[in-house]
Amino acid sequence: MKHDPNCIFCKIAAGQIPAKKVYEDDELLVFHDINPWAPVHVLVIPKEHVATLADTGPEHEALLGRMLALAPKLMRELGVSNGFRVVVNNGPDGGQEVYHLHMHVMGGPRPWAKG
Ligand code: AMP
Ligand code: ZN
Repeated sequence: MKHDPNCIFCKIAAGQIPAKKVYEDDELLVFHDINPWAPVHVLVIPKEHVATLADTGPEHEALLGRMLALAPKLMRELGVSNGFRVVVNNGPDGGQEVYHLHMHVMGGPRPWAKG
């Protein structure tokens, strides 16, 4: 599995930096965003280092499907019952700040801090 020693999300996946973990399996990790936009705001990441959505290929299709399929389950488990938003920022113009693929999943009663 690919890792980037300078990548903050690789460090979280390796347990070198603490995070409020919500879910974990062999391929995926979910943790609370440190700067939440919404009452519930989690990030779904692959444990493997993939920089952006644009760096994925056919070999990642199952992984991407699993990430998306996890969103409604996570929201249910975190008590979100009135809708949620899924966002993947991609590249500079997409507003991506952390270059390790991640999917934002946000929910909870409005108003939200942002978005
Ligand atoms: P993006 O702009 O899509 O790259 O979003 C990166 C997200 O990662 C932001 O919402 C940050 O608040 C979040 N973030 C950055 N560092 C950490 C961290 N150590 N733990 C949890 N979330 C983080
Ligand atoms: Zn990484």
